[in-house]
Amino acid sequence: LENQLHQIQKIESIGQLAGGVAHDFNNMLNVILGYGNIILEKTRADDPLHECAQEIVDAGNRSATITRQLLAFARKQTIAPKVLDLNETIEKMLRMLRRLIGENIQLNWHPSSVWPVFIDPSQLDQILTNLCVNARDAIGDVGKIIIETETTTFDEIYCSQHPGSIPGEFALLSVSDNGIGMDAHTVSKIFEPFFTTKELSKGTGLGLATVYGIIKQNNGFINVYSEPGQGTTFKIYLPRHTKQITTGQKKEEDAIMHGR
Ligand code: ADP
Repeated sequence: LENQLHQIQKIESIGQLAGGVAHDFNNMLNVILGYGNIILEKTRADDPLHECAQEIVDAGNRSATITRQLLAFARKQTIAPKVLDLNETIEKMLRMLRRLIGENIQLNWHPSSVWPVFIDPSQLDQILTNLCVNARDAIGDVGKIIIETETTTFDEIYCSQHPGSIPGEFALLSVSDNGIGMDAHTVSKIFEPFFTTKELSKGTGLGLATVYGIIKQNNGFINVYSEPGQGTTFKIYLPRHTKQITTGQKKEEDAIMHGR
């Protein structure tokens, strides 16, 4: 446990450091991109300077993507959690996710009735986007991603056998792919910030560290099942929303649970 705590503290301080650096970097990048774009506009396409300016702008845009990921990882944004129907929220995201993974990869959506959860919808967006991008990259050309929801309860017996879990009712969101999978050593590293097996321009190693941070922030937890050559499943458990609720909210929750 002490080791785990140490690990969490380490990740948090890396996050703070990275967030601070990313913030200053972003300001400087805006200057670089701003002037790069001016040179682009002021030079003709056959001017050698035009090509140089294009390189500056392209590199600037790539850096901006990385700083955006760093800021997301450091959780510098203010969050606005809401009582959410997972199924409804995911349904609204499916079109964006399909575009993200491309035409050759199938996306299957299997919703079941699920407890309401209390989370910022943009955080849910970040979770699914990161998991689907990873699934896409693990698949490569042709394959299948399955997104599922269901409801589970963890009793004391389950929790005594699964360290880190807490008893209660949870909404379960799983994302599975039939991509290359991972060996046990890789699995043990994936939530560490900056761990990546992807080439430099493709991965920052911040996706799953961000997902992990969001899930912890929302009192949930995440499990990974992976087999080299078989594929990977991420299971995310978010606690059922149980705050003191008004009658209106209660009705809303019942409606979510029993399908409107
Ligand atoms: P990045 O995608 O930038 O590499 P992540 O933190 O999202 O960073 O992922 C870290 C690493 O975990 C990836 O580089 C990859 O090796 C591994 N990984 C994550 N998701 C999957 C998956 N669905 N299948 C196989 N490997 C995965």
